[in-house]
Amino acid sequence: MNGAEGKRFSIAVLAGDGIGPEVISAARRAADAAASRDGASLEWVEYPFGASFYLRTNEILPDSALKEMSAHSAMMLGAIGDPAVKPGILERGILLKLRFEFDQYVNLRPAASLPNVPTPVPLNGRRIDSVVVRENTEDLYIGLGDMSDAGCVDAPMDLKRAGYSATGRLSLRISPEMPFAAQVALNTKFAVERITRYACETARKRGEKVITVVSKSNAVPALYGFFEDTARETANREFPDIECKVANVDALCYHLVRSPAMYGVLLCPNLFGDIVSDLQAGLAGGMGTAAGGNIGDGLSMFEPVHGSAPDIAGTGRANPIAAVLSSVLMLRHIGLDKSAERVERAVSRYLESSRRQELPIEFGGDFTCGQIEEAIIKNI
Ligand code: ATP
Repeated sequence: MNGAEGKRFSIAVLAGDGIGPEVISAARRAADAAASRDGASLEWVEYPFGASFYLRTNEILPDSALKEMSAHSAMMLGAIGDPAVKPGILERGILLKLRFEFDQYVNLRPAASLPNVPTPVPLNGRRIDSVVVRENTEDLYIGLGDMSDAGCVDAPMDLKRAGYSATGRLSLRISPEMPFAAQVALNTKFAVERITRYACETARKRGEKVITVVSKSNAVPALYGFFEDTARETANREFPDIECKVANVDALCYHLVRSPAMYGVLLCPNLFGDIVSDLQAGLAGGMGTAAGGNIGDGLSMFEPVHGSAPDIAGTGRANPIAAVLSSVLMLRHIGLDKSAERVERAVSRYLESSRRQELPIEFGGDFTCGQIEEAIIKNI
């Protein structure tokens, strides 16, 4: 008997646009196969939202669906975005709405070296095994700001988050008059403390004693000085076993490129986390292997870091490994640790045992999305 025997989980699945449905098919089948080997079962409830639903119905993501989604154990998402829809509509209306509605305050983006996956920088025998813990609700991503052709921005600044609300105005006149834009960033003690706790707990689970806070307090002292100080104080107060180091984001990028394997847990404000995790993904192997999770105390959502990649949708060129590894994060989140390990091992085994032509097209092989899916399933 293992702890998973007889357990049932209901998982919301939003395959979305472009390569989303192709890569989600692999993620679903891999998670199903592993869970059933451990005696658990996953019931998938599909949601149709995305570009074609929007173009057909003019609806993006109705509130009734949000309510229903909140009852699931977790959500898997493929990708959102389509050239037929103005950029931003679906991303804001679906991705950001889900993140904010369910207060998914952690964006978790691991990066690990995989067998036979070429890296752009020599690793000199070392492995990349790092994870970006990105604050997911604040910083420059609160969407408050405006642009002006007339030298004056006067915009309301009302913000509602799970733990607080903020009200006010951004009022700015520029002289001599010229077009300009202004956007506001915010970091609160509430949000920085809870993301720091998550980062420290992640380090503990990984058996590590250090986290690195990614900052830029020398140039942006209020915003990032506050983030850095609050993170350090929280870690020192509540996690005496964890050392909290600080790196400025520019220096960190330099060191990451020169020694990609030197970091473990990287605690980032929202903007730096977005950028650093793409750099990390590029260093570890590419878009096709970068997994992600948006995690909160309510519904958590797991998705590959890549977008809908309309240029390769339907061609078989999509690499589903990023989505499959996102299902690993999902399985771990719902407590199916053993099943998560099974899927992770299956991905490694497939890559390890592949001849060059059996590798994903992204890595110079000939295997299509469907063939990679089959190969991973065979290894579970
Ligand atoms: P977004 O702007 O939403 O991030 P996008 O579709 O413009 O999305 P990405 O999905 O991030 O951009 O991908 C950029 C490029 O990387 C794609 O155009 C595609 O060629 C490649 N790519 C992305 N995902 C994969 C994948 N899973 N397998 C293979 N190639 C991929």
